[in-house]
Amino acid sequence: MANPDAPTVHYDAIIIGAGIIGCSIALALARKGRRTLNVDTLPAAGYGSTSSSAAVVRTYYSTLDGTAMALEGYHDWKNWQAYLGAGEPTGLARFVETGTLVMKTAANNHLERVLKHADALSIAYEHWSPDKILARMPGYNLQCFAPAKKMDHDDFGAPTGGEIHGGVFFPAGGYVDDPQIAARNLKDAAARHGAQFRFKTRVVRIPVRDGRVTGIVCADGTEIRAPIVINVAGPHSGKVNALLEGDPGIRIGHRPLRQEVVQIKPPEQLGYSREGLIVSDNDIGVYLKPGGGGQLMLGSENPPCDPPLEEDPDDFSRDLTDRALTYAYRYSQRLPDIGVSQHPVGIADLYDATDDWLPIYDRSDIGGYYLAIGTSGNQFKNAPVAGRLMAELIDYCEAGKDHDDIPFRFPLHHVGHTLNTATFSRKRELTKESSFSVLG
Ligand SMILES: Cc1cc2nc3c(=O)[nH]c(=O)nc-3n(C[C@H](O)[C@H](O)[C@H](O)COP(=O)(O)OP(=O)(O)OC[C@H]3O[C@@H](n4cnc5c(N)ncnc54)[C@H](O)[C@@H]3O)c2cc1C
Repeated sequence: MANPDAPTVHYDAIIIGAGIIGCSIALALARKGRRTLNVDTLPAAGYGSTSSSAAVVRTYYSTLDGTAMALEGYHDWKNWQAYLGAGEPTGLARFVETGTLVMKTAANNHLERVLKHADALSIAYEHWSPDKILARMPGYNLQCFAPAKKMDHDDFGAPTGGEIHGGVFFPAGGYVDDPQIAARNLKDAAARHGAQFRFKTRVVRIPVRDGRVTGIVCADGTEIRAPIVINVAGPHSGKVNALLEGDPGIRIGHRPLRQEVVQIKPPEQLGYSREGLIVSDNDIGVYLKPGGGGQLMLGSENPPCDPPLEEDPDDFSRDLTDRALTYAYRYSQRLPDIGVSQHPVGIADLYDATDDWLPIYDRSDIGGYYLAIGTSGNQFKNAPVAGRLMAELIDYCEAGKDHDDIPFRFPLHHVGHTLNTATFSRKRELTKESSFSVLG
């Protein structure tokens, strides 16, 4: 119940969550002159799943719209200071451009569809032969091990015949060195436009009157009024939807799934501490990226042997398990000299994954209630674009247009492409072209 003695305050829009996407939406709305408030349970911006992000920025996705959105985001990261606007000369997250190498395998259809989208959007790439891969990554064992296995499988580590025939190198790509600082940069930029933030504040109810949201009620009983409320609660997004006094009308499923990322010391011959390279190795179901302090981070690309594990975002263990060890051992199939520690160091957190691993950026069946959820482990890179998309989508819907009937079309700034935002609809059927993995 709202506390009748607590003061009532009014905003144009309330954003539940101050992760990278919540802060980006705040900036885009504040730039349009809307009075926004982000509320977040945690003490600062980007402390939720954003802080665990590998923050890889790449331009290959399985759908054309997904690829175009990622390319747009790449340009924003590359020009981060300009994107944020004046007054942010220091304390910025840094985009480290390493390029990304994707191994061509039968399972990813030798990247045929990915390259079709790259061609359509004039994304540069190079085919790398096995020799070129070995020149860049000396000692990398190119034998095939697919299908990827768990480390306790009888045939774990046994080659399954043949060798990887090559890869595709995308020079435009890399990673953001500190995802939490990137969220803070967006928050500070939004605040310069008047956006407000309340931390250590949990939303416990989202009242609805006459089919429209009226604002939020916080755990201390404070009611905050606004005609627009946006759920950007990351892995808590399902729990936040349950606080709404109505049905948001979401057809595609989404759930918090456990993910572990393990840190290892790269063998010296890779030169990772110097220049690094992001590698997507579908044959072993592992991606790798340079981490801080010359370390290498390994994560799963969700092959069938790493089944989804749903967890409660308010009650899950942050300790690494055999999953993380398995990724390290799978990588040791490539570079047998790496020492795999039995006490791995890394991160355990949650993706808010949809059934087809594409996000939901949409309105809902309740007036004024919007969704930027289901980000499926692959939307950090798209956060700047998602902010603008949501701000424009809200304008479109609040002007009385029926987005479910005539989906909003979102022209990109840097890329000659207009997104059909029905791709991100809450009511969509499964996207058949999806990789059904974190690759989107
Ligand atoms: C291990 C891992 C690796 C990843 N790697 C990549 C990658 O390499 N590239 C990429 O593009 N993406 C990656 N992602 C995905 C990306 O990081 C996420 O999509 C993105 O950070 C989500 O941001 P967000 O703002 O939506 O959510 P979050 O950062 O989770 O923020 C949601 C916020 O909502 C708040 N909240 C929840 N419930 C309430 C409530 N009731 N009241 C108030 N506040 C509430 C939470 O406290 C939280 O701070 C990765 C994710 C993980 C977990």
